[in-house]
Amino acid sequence: MLQSYDSPGSRGGMRVAEPVQGARPARVAIVGAGMAGASAARALHAAGVSVALFDKGRQPGGRMANRRDDETGLSFDHGAQVMRAHGPAFRARLADWAVSGRVAPYDAPGSVTAVPDMTAPVRDLLAGLDVQVGRTVTALARTDGGWRLTLAEAGEDRLFDAVALTLPGPQALRLLAASGLALPGVERATYAPCWSLMLACAQDLPLPGDVLRPADGPVAAMFREGAKPGRPTAPVAYTVHATPDWSKTHLEEAPEAVRAALLAALGDLFGDPVIPLQARAHRWRYALVEETCGAPCLYDPGRRLGYAGDGCLGPRIEAAFDSGLALADRLIADLA
Ligand SMILES: Cc1cc2nc3c(=O)[nH]c(=O)nc-3n(C[C@H](O)[C@H](O)[C@H](O)COP(=O)(O)OP(=O)(O)OC[C@H]3O[C@@H](n4cnc5c(N)ncnc54)[C@H](O)[C@@H]3O)c2cc1C
Repeated sequence: MLQSYDSPGSRGGMRVAEPVQGARPARVAIVGAGMAGASAARALHAAGVSVALFDKGRQPGGRMANRRDDETGLSFDHGAQVMRAHGPAFRARLADWAVSGRVAPYDAPGSVTAVPDMTAPVRDLLAGLDVQVGRTVTALARTDGGWRLTLAEAGEDRLFDAVALTLPGPQALRLLAASGLALPGVERATYAPCWSLMLACAQDLPLPGDVLRPADGPVAAMFREGAKPGRPTAPVAYTVHATPDWSKTHLEEAPEAVRAALLAALGDLFGDPVIPLQARAHRWRYALVEETCGAPCLYDPGRRLGYAGDGCLGPRIEAAFDSGLALADRLIADLA
């Protein structure tokens, strides 16, 4: 999608990547359509840069995820649950989303969740942009004065001026290595895993509130899906997150074994066996950042190759959002 230009230079305090007369706008490939990729994409698009996003998932959002089954009506946010703003950019963004009804208060004072599910904020940022899902980028090549991408699924023959990687650090590292490239600093980002259980029951379980955070044991938190704003209250659905330590110990176990172990842990918690209508375990190998890269983003101006994500700033949605903006700023300055 090409942006039309109504005035040269800066617009509304924002730097604009102005194309030379007759030339095409600068074009950036963004690998990853989670919060970091989406915030970078929206800022680049607003500055007149043409963006194309590629994500290997079935839908945008990344770890802001939702699994919905139209037949049963079940809906699980099996990744991130809540958002909170510490800085001005994300605070302003959350305020906008509160007005448009895409977020609503949830869990604790100052916290919000997304409506109708956790993918909504990323979908909003990406509205109208070129987003390709189910597309795994397997290599990047510097060629013909730009970048070309190799995808696992099918050809992508556009030439890009710059590439933004917005994946968990270890995945970015693997993609860089497969391409014979390096971006120093990416290797510093480390993550704890999280096993997540999507659980449907015939009846409500005796949670003391809508969220249960046991003091010890394998379960870190349990969320009553129907208590979140805008969700169906039936069938009765819960998302359960295991603790980072438990998830590390059981990282390579089969989902069926993890499912059984977490159901047993819930039985211990409630003092009665939990009989599920349906229970599915999902492994997040890279869930919560433990060590960051130590910079808002990483950027190699010589090659026009950058990295953004929560791996830069910390284990929060806001960190991914801010990091995406930081990388967009670097790209806009460089491409202008
Ligand atoms: C279980 C869990 C609970 C959490 N709870 C919270 C919470 O309550 N509050 C909070 O603030 N944060 C929470 N987080 C953290 C939060 O989800 C992340 O910090 C944030 O969503 C990271 O966004 P991102 O854009 O950096 O990365 P991601 O969301 O991981 O996006 C990266 C994207 O890259 C794609 N990708 C990877 N490799 C490739 C490839 N080769 N080609 C194409 N695409 C690729 C992936 O499919 C993914 O969509 C939680 C995370 C998890 C897993």
